[in-house]
Amino acid sequence: MTVYLVGAGPGDPGLLTVRGAELLRSAEVVVHDRLIGPRILDLAPPTARLVDVGKSAGSAPTSQEETNALLVALGREARVVVRLKGGDPYVFGRGGEEAIALAAAEVDYEVVPGVSAATAVAACAGVPLTHRGVASGFAVVSGHDVSSTGPGVDWGRLAEARCTVVVLMGAAQRALVAGRLLSAGRAPSTPVLVVERGSSPQQRSVRTTLGELDAVDVESPATIVVGEVAALRLASYEDRPLAGWRVVVTRAASSSAPLVALLERAGASVVELPVVEIRDPEDGGAALRAAADRLAVYDWVVVTSANGAERLLGLIRDARSLGRARVAAVGPATAAAVRRAGIVPDLVPDRFVAEGLVDAFRALDVRASGRPGRVLLAQAAAARPVVADGLAALGWDVDAVVAYQSARATPGRAALDEVARADAVVFTSASTVEGFLEVVDRKGVPPVVASIGPVTTAAAESAGIRVCVEAGHHTVAGVVDALSAFASSSGR
Ligand code: SAH
Repeated sequence: MTVYLVGAGPGDPGLLTVRGAELLRSAEVVVHDRLIGPRILDLAPPTARLVDVGKSAGSAPTSQEETNALLVALGREARVVVRLKGGDPYVFGRGGEEAIALAAAEVDYEVVPGVSAATAVAACAGVPLTHRGVASGFAVVSGHDVSSTGPGVDWGRLAEARCTVVVLMGAAQRALVAGRLLSAGRAPSTPVLVVERGSSPQQRSVRTTLGELDAVDVESPATIVVGEVAALRLASYEDRPLAGWRVVVTRAASSSAPLVALLERAGASVVELPVVEIRDPEDGGAALRAAADRLAVYDWVVVTSANGAERLLGLIRDARSLGRARVAAVGPATAAAVRRAGIVPDLVPDRFVAEGLVDAFRALDVRASGRPGRVLLAQAAAARPVVADGLAALGWDVDAVVAYQSARATPGRAALDEVARADAVVFTSASTVEGFLEVVDRKGVPPVVASIGPVTTAAAESAGIRVCVEAGHHTVAGVVDALSAFASSSGR
């Protein structure tokens, strides 16, 4: 019953507002422009209807009148309609026209401002639009204006004002824009910054001058910043350690999000190639359910992956059914999954591998807790026997149950083509190494291979893949840090 005109920001999903994200999560329909990235659209529930009204190669864009009519019709039908627009909805987005059409049709609407390319893109490329002693203001204009008739920008006054000029939609018209400012008296030596795809992993910026702007190759979407501030060079998204790197992630789609987010924050373009998928165990989860019903008989419940923790603890309705059982998690991501179930893990080893868990049990003060007792171990179908055998050897009575199995997933052609152009691949388990080699020829392995820890490294090396980067800290954050350090030192 309400249409929300939401600004999606310039591209980086981290620059979507909190309010925008909240509305997307509750959207029934999302009407979006072409340039909105998948990470932002993915916030909408899977049941939401997505309508692309943007231009795409080969098909005609929806006209503004059609979009207005669509919003009115949807606004009458659905409870939450999100009209998602790039940047800020009221900055060259024709959001004002949509608002007027909705008001005229008596459909409720609300605007949720966004981070506009007009201000954000220069910042992402290391240029402040205003700077003490350099520029005390800025103007935002449309490059389309130079060729349109009718009342438009007074380029003469703009040139005289000596403020920073931010030109949107100016890539194709850059020669005309430069011409207007030059003939109005701006010097040919005036610094200019051109930023393509600002805030995204593909951000590319070029420094030039007003006199040379015409000669620079520029692809849309690009923002052009004219003025003395463009000579400043503060930290840019392009300085991030993995900027310019295309990195393949092989984790199951259901658990790849944290790794993907960390890689993108480090500047990488991520190619998602899920070669495994998490499925119910062979018995449909019967053994796991039976174990979940009698947790109190155990002294310890041991989980060796976030998936295992979620599947086991998701089955208990009351934390008290754990009784006196304590909980051990193999590493921080597993521990975080335990915490999400409202339970604080009692034990997380110093080394986040199965062997580390066995060592931690060896170090337990069994005198304090009596002799070794019963352990429930919830793990993957193909788990190595390290924990089960190791604990049994220490005298514990171990019940191992299968919480899930990882099965091969078949990636699409497009993802495989991107792998061929990738700089690096990240493996987070032995099963991702095996799955990867089933779909990608050994010659097709990207030049840099990063592994989360020794077990994964051994699996890769025994398959003939040389691992150049191994995480010191065996977590997804650890592997991203290690790859970032490698990238910085290799100067690629
Ligand atoms: N409402 C949007 C602007 C729409 S006009 C906003 O507030 O950001 C579209 C123009 O914005 C593009 O032609 C380009 O000039 C600029 N733009 C949008 N996203 C951009 C990006 N990621 N990098 C560089 N320029 C961008």
